[in-house]
Amino acid sequence: MKFLVCVKQVVDTSQMEVDPATGRLKRNNANSIMNPMDRNALEAAFALRDQAGGRVTVISMGPPQAAAVLKEAISMGADEAYLVTDRAFGGADTLATSYTLSRAIEKIGSFDLILCGQESIDSNTAQVGPEIAATLGMSDVSAAVGISCEKEGFLTVERQMGDNREVLEMKLPGLITCTGELNKPRYPSIKGILKKEEVEVKNLTAADLNVDAARIGMKGSPTQVRQVRPVVPPKKENLRIEGGTAEDAADELTAALKKLNLA
Ligand SMILES: Cc1cc2nc3c(=O)[nH]c(=O)nc-3n(C[C@H](O)[C@H](O)[C@H](O)COP(=O)(O)OP(=O)(O)OC[C@H]3O[C@@H](n4cnc5c(N)ncnc54)[C@H](O)[C@@H]3O)c2cc1C
Repeated sequence: MKFLVCVKQVVDTSQMEVDPATGRLKRNNANSIMNPMDRNALEAAFALRDQAGGRVTVISMGPPQAAAVLKEAISMGADEAYLVTDRAFGGADTLATSYTLSRAIEKIGSFDLILCGQESIDSNTAQVGPEIAATLGMSDVSAAVGISCEKEGFLTVERQMGDNREVLEMKLPGLITCTGELNKPRYPSIKGILKKEEVEVKNLTAADLNVDAARIGMKGSPTQVRQVRPVVPPKKENLRIEGGTAEDAADELTAALKKLNLA
C-alpha cells in the first residue's frame, strides 16, 4: 500500500511567544517541533505498512527549516520526504494550505491512504485534513482512535463522538485524521537515524506545481488574522472575614457570594 503522512512543523506551545509589535507568533528553530498528533499519524502508517507492506511518504508545507520534521519522520521510519516551500505560499490560511498540499500530493503520485494529525497545537483548526480530502475528492474520517485492516481495499476506523464510539468502514483511497489516543508513536531507530542522512528531502516550489496563483499564499486566503493576544487568567481575590459575631460573618459571606452570583 502507498501511504502519505502530512507533517506540520509547529511552535512548541509551552514556549510560545507573540511578537507584541506584529501580533504574530515568534517562530524560530529553537521552539519548533513536529506537531504531536502527526507522530500518531506516522505510527498508524508504519503499523499498516508492517502488516500490508508498502511505502510511507511524508510531506510538509513550510519554510526551509521545516525540513527538520521531515528528517525526523525519516528517522522514525518514513521512506521518502517532500517539502512544499516557496515564498509565494507564505501567509496561507487553511484553505490555501490544503489547496497547495493537495496539488503537491497530485504531483507526487497516487496514494491508498493519506494520514494527518487531527489538529495542530499552534493553530488548532482541524480543517486541513478534511479540506485535502474534499479537494482530492476522496472519503475521509476525522478523529480516529482506532484503525484496522480486515478486508482488502477497506479500513475499519473507530472514532470518538462525545461519549460514544463510532465504528466506520472506509473504502480506499481515503484520508484519516489521527488523535493522540490512536497509538504510541515509535522512537527513531539507529537504522532510521543513519537513513535520515542518506534520504534527500525533495523540495517542491510553486513553479513545480500546477497551482492557480490566486489560490495560494496570502492572496488565496479568505481568512485574515486581525490580532493575536495572550489570554491573561483573571486574578483571584481572597476574602478574609474577621471579627464580629457569627451572624455578621455569615451576612458578609452571603453578600460576597451574591456579588459573584453564587448565592
Ligand atoms: C490569514 C492567515 C495567515 C497566516 N499566516 C501564516 C504564516 O505566515 N505562517 C504560518 O506558519 N502560518 C500562518 N497561518 C496559519 C496557517 O494557516 C496554518 O498553520 C495552516 O493553515 C494549518 O492550519 P492548522 O495548523 O490549524 O491545521 P490543522 O487542520 O489543525 O492541522 C491538522 C493536520 O493537518 C496537517 N497539516 C496542517 N498544516 C500542514 C502543513 N503546513 N504541512 C503539512 N501538513 C499540515 C497535519 O497533519 C496536521 O496535524 C496563517 C493563518 C491565517 C488564517
